[in-house]
Amino acid sequence: MTISSVIDTADRVVATTYKRFPVVFTRGQGCRLYDETGKEYTDFIAGIAVCSLGHAHPGIASVIAEQAATLIHTSNLYYTVPQVELADWLTSHSFADRVFFGNSGAEANEAAIKLARKYFKDNGQPDRYRIVAMEKSFHGRTMATLSATGQEKIKKGFAPVLEGFDFAPFNDIDALRAAIGPDTAAVLLEPIQGEGGIRVPDEGYLPAVRRLCDESGILLIFDEIQTGMGRTGQLFAHTHFSTTPDIMTLAKALGNGLPIGTMLATEKVAAAFGPGAHASTFGGTPLVTAAALEVCRIFDEDDIINKCNRIGKYFKEKLDELKSRHDLIRDVRGRGLLLGMRLKVEAAPVVQACLENGFLINGVQEKILRFAPPLIVSRPEIDALIDCLDDIFSR
Ligand SMILES: *Cc1c(COP(=O)(O)O)cnc(C)c1O
Repeated sequence: MTISSVIDTADRVVATTYKRFPVVFTRGQGCRLYDETGKEYTDFIAGIAVCSLGHAHPGIASVIAEQAATLIHTSNLYYTVPQVELADWLTSHSFADRVFFGNSGAEANEAAIKLARKYFKDNGQPDRYRIVAMEKSFHGRTMATLSATGQEKIKKGFAPVLEGFDFAPFNDIDALRAAIGPDTAAVLLEPIQGEGGIRVPDEGYLPAVRRLCDESGILLIFDEIQTGMGRTGQLFAHTHFSTTPDIMTLAKALGNGLPIGTMLATEKVAAAFGPGAHASTFGGTPLVTAAALEVCRIFDEDDIINKCNRIGKYFKEKLDELKSRHDLIRDVRGRGLLLGMRLKVEAAPVVQACLENGFLINGVQEKILRFAPPLIVSRPEIDALIDCLDDIFSR
């Protein structure tokens, strides 16, 4: 198929849910992607914060190949080794005692919402079922998770949404206090909002949310689907704020591109998910969990998080320098390698110009550029993007 026939055929036979750039990628290597013409692109979005160890990682590729030739799927009627080893790694590296495996971020959040409701049903407070989420949040596209999402455009056309969600502005503790009632079961939030515009809360906000949840006798759920797995310079973003949740969801970077979503919880809360309470046919297959386990092993072995911290600081300094030179940049925000740049103008033409110059970035919330490169991105790659942006902003 030629490029134009790929695009023409896609226009005919693929669901029209995605507005895509007219690029057909055929392979990747590290932080680079190559299209059908052989043109090289430096990837500063990593499949939306997914391919944190880069494309075609040889160690991960060989683990996948070997596991595929050994055992791909058994269902959860039985035990398999990689699933258990991955759960062991995740619990020994987090606050959590137990892990539920699904296949996507939305499924992980579905599990978290179900667990919060079930926990109070099991503990003699059946009327506590509501969840307070944040304005501008993003939690997924299934019916429950879009109902939990604080953006009208995500819900448009799907009414009635699921009942039981209330919203408070992010980073406003008084508004959150007012939104919590006698029927609230949990507060659900992203420690740093991703789709909402890379919004980092004030230092004291998350600890105050934790205290408020404790005083109210309700659960705290962190959606770390985008911020987790080292993206912000800590394995989990909540540790920047010294705040521990009761439930956490992880997905995007955990499988470096293989579909996996997990919900982690403390023993006390996870106890509400007894046999038969929840399930997923594909959840935690040996294939996907072997790949994720290799991702985790590489994180430990290659000191990925410290590298992310160092290179993230460098990148942010460079973006700040760019801001000092260009009036149309409002601010630079984010942590580690989840960075955003708020512009006075629309982000889309800048994203387009970067693409033409061989750099992949994306826009969120109309005027914000998002940078989420693989955590193995190098200084020369960052310098090249900065030069490209400098040129674009000078025009
Ligand atoms: C991407 C994302 C989701 C949804 O994940 P899917 O795998 O697309 O279902 C949920 N929450 C956050 C914070 C995300 O960034």
